[in-house]
Amino acid sequence: PVDRSPEIQEARLKLPVLAEEQVIMEAVRENPCVVICGETGSGKTTQVPQFLYEAGYASGSEIIGITEPRRVAAVSMSHRVAKEMNLSTRVVSYQIRYEGNVTSDTKIKFMTDGVLLKEIQKDFLLQRYSVIIIDEAHERSVYTDILIGLLSRIVPLRNKKGMPMKLLVMSATLRVEDFTDNTKLFRTPPPVIKVDARQFPVTIHFNKRTPMEDYTGEVFHKICKIHRMLPPGGILVFLTGQAEVHNLCRKLRKAFPYRKGNTTTDEDEETSETMRKFKKAKQKKTSLPRIDLDNYSALPVDEGDEDREAGIGDEEDEGSDLDIGDDPASIEEKADPSIPLYVLPLYSLLAPEQQAKVFRPSPHGTRACVVATNVAETSLTIPGIKYVVDCGRVKKRFYDRVTGVSSFRVTWTSQASANQRAGRAGRTEPGHCYRLYSSAVFGDFSLFSEAEITRRPVEDLVLQMKDLNIDKVVNFPFPTSPSAEALVAAEQLLVSLGALKEPPRTGRVKEMEQARLSCPITPLGRAMASFPVAPRYAKMLALGRQQDCLPYVIAVVAAMTVREIFEDLDRPACSEDESSKLIQRRARLTQMRRLWAGQGASLLLGDLMVMLGAVGACEFAGCTPKFCEENGLRYKAMVEIRRLRGQLTNAVNAVCPEVGVFVNPKMTPPTEHQVVCLRQIVLAGLGDHLARRVQAEDILDPKWKNGYKTPLLDDPVYIHPTSALFKTLPDFIVYQEIMETTKMYMRGVSAIEAEWIP
Ligand code: ADP
Ligand code: MG
Repeated sequence: PVDRSPEIQEARLKLPVLAEEQVIMEAVRENPCVVICGETGSGKTTQVPQFLYEAGYASGSEIIGITEPRRVAAVSMSHRVAKEMNLSTRVVSYQIRYEGNVTSDTKIKFMTDGVLLKEIQKDFLLQRYSVIIIDEAHERSVYTDILIGLLSRIVPLRNKKGMPMKLLVMSATLRVEDFTDNTKLFRTPPPVIKVDARQFPVTIHFNKRTPMEDYTGEVFHKICKIHRMLPPGGILVFLTGQAEVHNLCRKLRKAFPYRKGNTTTDEDEETSETMRKFKKAKQKKTSLPRIDLDNYSALPVDEGDEDREAGIGDEEDEGSDLDIGDDPASIEEKADPSIPLYVLPLYSLLAPEQQAKVFRPSPHGTRACVVATNVAETSLTIPGIKYVVDCGRVKKRFYDRVTGVSSFRVTWTSQASANQRAGRAGRTEPGHCYRLYSSAVFGDFSLFSEAEITRRPVEDLVLQMKDLNIDKVVNFPFPTSPSAEALVAAEQLLVSLGALKEPPRTGRVKEMEQARLSCPITPLGRAMASFPVAPRYAKMLALGRQQDCLPYVIAVVAAMTVREIFEDLDRPACSEDESSKLIQRRARLTQMRRLWAGQGASLLLGDLMVMLGAVGACEFAGCTPKFCEENGLRYKAMVEIRRLRGQLTNAVNAVCPEVGVFVNPKMTPPTEHQVVCLRQIVLAGLGDHLARRVQAEDILDPKWKNGYKTPLLDDPVYIHPTSALFKTLPDFIVYQEIMETTKMYMRGVSAIEAEWIP
């Protein structure tokens, strides 16, 4: 029996999903798999786990598992459900990539989909669980899709073995045919239960014209108008990325101050002293050492307590933002600063304490204004919203399937997403949605967003699936299958990394085709699969124990897999006042990065040396917010790197206990000798990301000046001006990725020697 407080009980009764409790529970009893559709806010995430709990699905030793595509949702929903049920977080718990509060008493476990995928690797039958709920299935995140495919096999297996298990798939949209009308997935289509949302009418206001350039400016004007002219009620704004969110918050706070913010950045002399301490001492010259490419740690393991999470599904926050600078003229807009606006940002990378603020009532006498990315579209329901301002755009990462070049682009969202956004305005009373685009433009939006799995490289998934002994990945029951091209590319890369065994050359085309898509995993591949990073980086870890390079490889890999560790030096100033300070700051931070890049031999490790230097210096200083702020490092990223270093260290020790590697906060810089080894290790992982400088005498077209040639691209790619190797322009380099902005720029560049190239 659950002992809920009267207020909670009252709030629950208002949720539409409560009316369907009987129907849902009966369907669950009678079917192995059930699909539940219901508008965002109808109570699916918070209530369905409680129904199952009360029906006894966690009364034995088995527990109830719920997966979320976003960490934000896993954490905040577990807290909410614990509170509603009046149970401690020892019982209603969460687990995300780096942290969790699961105990032996846990009965309801919220987790990211990556965490559950990792558990399947350890126990394919998921015997701890009596039921798995896949939440937010409409988001079609890669891991969600894979989990549904795997569970479509696991559930019947459990039934066959007499240990029945249930699968619930929950979606905020009615578009579930990919799950239900897919006989490869479910031979008998699962029943679909529709929860009628009590949705108040939302009046949609389209713009007459569609601003193409300064849409954030338009958003600002619209909010000012709403705030000055319309009755009370919270405003929810949809933008595309973190920088946009921050810029708008700043502008709004300035226009309608709620309280004075003050952040001072005082220079600190100590900083460079710490750097100097970390900086490497000069080393004696020796002949170049060589890394043995066949000498890797490849003891496959079944145990290990790390979990995997790609950090995907957070696209809106990734990459360098298209920063829209402030427009001082618009701040002059006749705002009435006497009515405070309680402005709150909301995006995936925001600290949980900050995120939690949106659920609390705004201070008395203020109007709440939540400036969000699309995390607010379906995962989180923000109370009290009456007005939605929708810029109609979304930021997505695009990959070129052939060349692997990726770029972040802001594109129009889909009609389904725009309608989800509008729906946020009608949860508590009739509302209004202001679409900052015309109805004609809306008519041109695609109806739905594509499943993520069709849009990104899949080598990490293929390796995971091979590790689950799914050799013929093409035959896997994907709700939506990745393209054959993408699967072939993934297998080829994994073969070249040594993670899969090359198919024998039979000479027969048909057989070769088949074999190329069903290469078996190697022992190295199993070791790589146990590292919670992408295959290229896993390969580096596997080679890292040579020449005592492992601590450095771990630190570099951690830094390479965490996004945006450095403050963006090209960030525009928000005021005249800030402008001169910013110039000084830029100069100082550039200097700092030069220091981290080291000298002589270190310099050739390039951007990766800068990362290593930054990580080393930051740890040396105790990884404090102050240090990060002063040195242009993103604090959250540095904390994530720290956790990942710990996790990777454990993972390597599990695969190869005799190396006994540990995280040393006072890591000394690598020797010259080690730097050379590190460059070879990096090449072993990034071997397909090789670029050769086009020599001056070979240049016919001026666009090739300082350009690099890659095997797959016809056009030149460049070293970015902020790169440590921008001035050096080595003849041969490897890069982490190519990002297309104004030009095709390589990110994460290291120099290599021609004779190392296999
Ligand atoms: P769904 O999953 O169908 O979108 P939820 O179960 O997430 O719906 O939300 C149901 C209700 O619970 C919403 O009205 C929401 O406002 C409320 N709610 C969810 N989380 C919190 C929270 N942390 N604090 C207060 N209310 C919350
Ligand atoms: Mg939900």
